[in-house]
Amino acid sequence: MPRPIHATIHTDALRHNLTRVREAAPDARVWAVVKANAYGHGIERVFDGLRGADGFALLDLDEAARVRQLGWRGPILLLEGVFELRDLELCSRLDLWHTVHCAEQIDLLATHKTQVPHRVFLKMNSGMNRLGFAPHSVRSAWTRLNALPQVDEISLMTHFSDADGPKGVAEQVALFNATTADLPGERTLSNSAGLLRHAAASADWVRPGIVLYGSSTDFPEHTAAQWGLLPTMTLASRIVGVQNLAVGASVGYGSSFVADRPMRIGVVACGYADGYPRHCHGTNTHGTPALVDGQRTRTVGRVSMDLLAVDLTGLPDSAHGSHVTLWGRSADGTVLSIDEVAQTGGTVGYELMCALAQRVPVTVAG
Ligand SMILES: *Cc1c(COP(=O)(O)O)cnc(C)c1O
Repeated sequence: MPRPIHATIHTDALRHNLTRVREAAPDARVWAVVKANAYGHGIERVFDGLRGADGFALLDLDEAARVRQLGWRGPILLLEGVFELRDLELCSRLDLWHTVHCAEQIDLLATHKTQVPHRVFLKMNSGMNRLGFAPHSVRSAWTRLNALPQVDEISLMTHFSDADGPKGVAEQVALFNATTADLPGERTLSNSAGLLRHAAASADWVRPGIVLYGSSTDFPEHTAAQWGLLPTMTLASRIVGVQNLAVGASVGYGSSFVADRPMRIGVVACGYADGYPRHCHGTNTHGTPALVDGQRTRTVGRVSMDLLAVDLTGLPDSAHGSHVTLWGRSADGTVLSIDEVAQTGGTVGYELMCALAQRVPVTVAG
């Protein structure tokens, strides 16, 4: 028998979360963001659940080719545009729409030989200061693009830095609208947090990623359940060893957890080499939640490469072979939010799902 760890991708939950996006942005078309191999889920594994979107948005050309191989004939957007000239040939061949965020990308387009003019998304930097043209250079970039025979339709794009926090999006929206007021073309501004929290900014296209995967963008202010989202990835394993601890006994490397009462612990076939974060350790004052046969408990001791430990003291029915849910949905339907696990490890749900390791077998369910 293989190691009992495995991940499950929930197609029904992907479909459900896409419906939630449609409800939150009823007038916008939806790019399902599937970069980073669909946030660690696997593009091929999420395709069925997300094929109801209006387009797929991603970064890598090989991922775009995979979406085309799945039979998708609708729009695909390269969120960072191209990196070199030959990427543009693939854009022509695979009919990819691409972002143009800097003058160098316009230079490349100007030298690109194509029979098929491209649909481009001109990106403005409205305050994130990552990619995009500064407001004062948007107009000249638009004029340059508009003069190129290689360019068909020009749409306009920006990206929010604080859609999930107290600063909000008002300043960025105002700057974007003022700068682009008299330019024609479709607009796209919102990521997940933008479309859930600032519906008025949804414009022509929204670009949700994380909400499609059932994670809350503003946890703990709102939980995924409060947003009506369902987890799309479950990481589960089993108890492969049980230890009884006397007072004073410690658990794992570095003895970072010491029993202050007689305890029973279960050793789970899951470690950081599976993508479970090492920061989700359990000390005497603070552990990371986990479910054993659907019942909540917490990690104890350090996470090692292949194993971690959970407290079984209050769970008399648990034993060798018991099912452990590290995040996601247990067999009885109990949900352990990836956001909660991530937060105890000092990170966010995005990082956990993206880091699911290659060695973990994955199945797709309903
Ligand atoms: C990743 C990304 C998104 C999706 O962001 P989420 O927070 O996952 O919704 C949207 N737009 C751009 C440009 C991105 O890079």
